Amino acid sequence: MEQRFKSLSLFEFQDLFSSSEDCLKYLSKLKWQDGFNCRHCGHGHSCDGKAAYSRQCTSCRYVESPTAQTLFHKVKFDLLKAFYIVYFLSTNKKGITSTELSRKLNLRQKTCWAFKRKVMKAMKSSGHHPITGRAEVDETVFGGQETGVRGRKNKNKKLVVVGIEKKKKGVSRIYARVIDKADAKSLGAFMKDHIAPDANVTTDKWSGYRPLIKDFQNLIQLYSGDKGGNFPEIHRVVMNLKGWLRGVHHHVRDLQDYLDEYCYRFNRSFMKEALFDNLMNRMIKTKPCLIKNISD
Ligand SMILES: [Zn+2]
Repeated sequence: MEQRFKSLSLFEFQDLFSSSEDCLKYLSKLKWQDGFNCRHCGHGHSCDGKAAYSRQCTSCRYVESPTAQTLFHKVKFDLLKAFYIVYFLSTNKKGITSTELSRKLNLRQKTCWAFKRKVMKAMKSSGHHPITGRAEVDETVFGGQETGVRGRKNKNKKLVVVGIEKKKKGVSRIYARVIDKADAKSLGAFMKDHIAPDANVTTDKWSGYRPLIKDFQNLIQLYSGDKGGNFPEIHRVVMNLKGWLRGVHHHVRDLQDYLDEYCYRFNRSFMKEALFDNLMNRMIKTKPCLIKNISD
């Protein structure tokens, strides 16, 4: 369990990044790894801009900084500390709270919270890796008494559909989405985004899944048994997810972002890819967003 993450050690990280200049250099390399393309005129050639690691279009003279049009856009604190936040969020097994970040980095808790919320936006599933093998889908309720609102949500409760991919005896991938109703439309939209049409999907006998057999020809419906006893893996996933959520302070309205963060980390825990680089790549490709538009 302890060896699931293969990622940059803190020592290696500190070796790579010791100043904001190092960070700009890294961002510049990552951002223009496939070459420069002017946002202004579409020209494909650039020279060094005046500011460190910026690029200037050789045709229209437009200058672009490595942080422009990324989630690092207009970050008002030391870029090196922003890198630390991405580092901790990508490598800590259970993530990290803004209070802990604040203590470690000597930043205001609110500053850490706001930037962390941006990083979470970069953790949203691309939808490019659908579950292909054995899948299970179920819905669950978050908040309140957590029972008895299958058909529709109410104010303090959120209905969430969860899909898992089973490999051998374990779970290799999970996806989760907040939905308004457990009807065929919402369940089907989620499944089409995250599950391949020929996957072997198992659900319980809920009527909302029945019409989806036309899109998922290998879908079967089983009785869920006493307290979901026939679906032990997905129930364990949901229990762990709820346990994690109880430990992080969040507003119900932000639930989807927290689900995305949890799934992002879970889905990469078996991969041998560089977690930090992967998340950085997403930070570069995700359009800048204002914190007031994320959460208030
Ligand atoms: Zn240009």
